[in-house]
Amino acid sequence: MIGLIFGPPGSGKGTQAVRISEELHLVHLSTGEILRAEMARGSDLGKEVERIVAAGDLVPDELMDRVVDARLDEGGKPPGMLLDGFPRTLEQAQALDRMLARRGLKVSFLLALEAPEELLIERLLKRAEREGRVDDTKKVIEERMREYHHRTEAVLDYYRRTGVPVLEVDGVGTVEEVFDRVRRVLTEPQSSRSR
Ligand code: AMP
Repeated sequence: MIGLIFGPPGSGKGTQAVRISEELHLVHLSTGEILRAEMARGSDLGKEVERIVAAGDLVPDELMDRVVDARLDEGGKPPGMLLDGFPRTLEQAQALDRMLARRGLKVSFLLALEAPEELLIERLLKRAEREGRVDDTKKVIEERMREYHHRTEAVLDYYRRTGVPVLEVDGVGTVEEVFDRVRRVLTEPQSSRSR
């Protein structure tokens, strides 16, 4: 099973991804976490992406594709993997499909978290106080939202067109409330899922 989790910044995608991976025993692969760990280590990759991430821009596709390809085999074994934060562009989605096809795999579902923008911004500013992420400032948040609408939403359309089940979940509420909805949508038989 290869699941993708999607959502604008602040939608709770990382938090829900951890819960879902535990529940379904999936390997959780977060590209944002990988990049933050590399930045913290001061590795060559970390240094290369530092300025891009801090500005709220997207790291070049070719670089992200290599990062994911190198780790994809960890999720090749059953039950599989949940990708969090990748693919974020149409090019990455096409690259992912090729990487999976080489391994005889394909995307099983895409979970899309949704919430109104005011709530997203409020959550991110609260997280900034708690975690101090370099990209959780007001100006950078705006840039990340722009990137999401401008480039990442196209990925949802791409998967819809290619027939991958896109499961939309309301991301408003507590972590528990949202997780309950996620669990329900993931365990429902496919025929009764809302599109
Ligand atoms: P996230 O933790 O998913 O919010 O990602 C944090 C930041 O890492 C993003 O704002 C981007 O700068 C960078 N990033 C993470 N995943 C990707 C990706 N798939 N493509 C390009 N940039 C990414």
